[in-house]
Amino acid sequence: MIESYLLKNISGYIDGQWVDADSGRTVEVLNPANGKTLAEIPYMAADETARAIAAAKAALPSMPDVATRREWLEDTRDALIAEKEEIGRILCLEHGKPWKEAQGEVEYAASFFDYFAKSMEDGLAPEELADKVKDCTWTVYKRAIGVAGLITPWNFPIGMIAKKIAPAIAAGCPVVIKPATETPLTMIAMFQIMHDRLDLPKGVINLVMGSSKEIGGELMSSPDVPMISFTGSTGVGQLLIEQSRQHVKKLGLELGGNAPFIVLDDADLDSAADNLIANKFRGCGQTCVCANRIFVHSNVYKEFTDKVVEKVKALKVGDGMDEDVDIGPLVNAAGFDKVHDHVKDALSKGATLVAGKHPDELDSDKNLFYPPTVITDVTHDMLCCQEETFGPLIPMIAFDTDEQAVQQGNDTEFGLASYVFGKDAKRAHKIIAQLHFGHCGYNTATGPAAHAPFGGMLHSGIGREGGHDGLLEYVELQTVPDGS
Ligand code: ADP
Repeated sequence: MIESYLLKNISGYIDGQWVDADSGRTVEVLNPANGKTLAEIPYMAADETARAIAAAKAALPSMPDVATRREWLEDTRDALIAEKEEIGRILCLEHGKPWKEAQGEVEYAASFFDYFAKSMEDGLAPEELADKVKDCTWTVYKRAIGVAGLITPWNFPIGMIAKKIAPAIAAGCPVVIKPATETPLTMIAMFQIMHDRLDLPKGVINLVMGSSKEIGGELMSSPDVPMISFTGSTGVGQLLIEQSRQHVKKLGLELGGNAPFIVLDDADLDSAADNLIANKFRGCGQTCVCANRIFVHSNVYKEFTDKVVEKVKALKVGDGMDEDVDIGPLVNAAGFDKVHDHVKDALSKGATLVAGKHPDELDSDKNLFYPPTVITDVTHDMLCCQEETFGPLIPMIAFDTDEQAVQQGNDTEFGLASYVFGKDAKRAHKIIAQLHFGHCGYNTATGPAAHAPFGGMLHSGIGREGGHDGLLEYVELQTVPDGS
């Protein structure tokens, strides 16, 4: 079992109180590196969620002014930075990502509290329109939308909630949060910090965990939750779209990806290879911005592949708490089996394994460590091109013309992240302008940052997180023509 001074209460948090499930039911949180139980968390359902919504609703009228809310964000930022080692340790144990990388995620989370603390006053300021029309002055106010329901996945246990809770609080919205059952402990630690260090009125932040179906169902069917921000699979996102119909809820959805990584024949191949390694193996390949399909110009295909393979062979896989480990385990057996299936499928359709182990040597029953794997001779019909692998697999696909790179890169209904590497900026930007992805790194495979809007096109979602647009998700615009 996990021991931590930040986990004094392994419970939900409703109306300022630490609470267990009404039923007394619990569910285990496992360490994916060794399968051992870390904790038992309450398995809550609809009734607890209804109470959390009621508490948040009651807190809404007395949400304090911008200055106080800014202090909450600043204090949270400072506390996260001060506690990054301990939060990172909890995160590493429940998720599997290396401890150092986990601490980087805590810093990333803190950057959202920092950004919204600094930008909220300007971001929320009313805008007086320049034109006087119909003898009126027109002002657009930004009103807090109300109680926000925030649902997060396991791949960034603190990063994903930071980009939702910071703008929600900045805008003046109380929140009801549902973390993923695989990784709730990091969030509980964050709640402990906020409970201990902020003078928060009851009901401003609430945490429920347990039955996704019941908690999600209650959030969606309640008329008191006008806004839901969700990060997770496209399937659940589509369900939420259906469920939002009754109360015409505002939805922010960050869904799946299938990122193309395009290497042109004039690219700096060493830099492109370094970027690919850093991007691809973050979180053991379990991020929605991880490159999923690697398109390499045929003139440099062999040279680029050789460079990548050399770097991949130097990576160390193991328990994320071991200092020299680069890649931890996959989060669960289903995640492992998906990677396994993608590799088996590709090899059966003619791909060649150039780094990693043959799938016959691997089994999720033994452990969840999947070696970083590179395959060549990949074609579009293989599962690894059709779906997000969400694991440490690099599939290399050759192309001959820029038109082919665009056509193949766009050959997916997803549209989250993409990357283009090449020295000729005009040529690269011509490609970028044709890609239907909300994020496109040029000569960098960096992911989102707090100051910039991030989100998907097509089946990858609705809305943006981060930046001014990320704040606007939590407000309603009210236009006031003033004829006086
Ligand atoms: P992933 O594949 O990343 O686990 P999911 O979409 O299954 O993606 O999960 C993301 C988050 O959505 C998790 O917190 C999960 O518990 C939650 N979730 C799953 N099913 C539902 C649902 N029917 N309604 C609301 N939330 C759900």
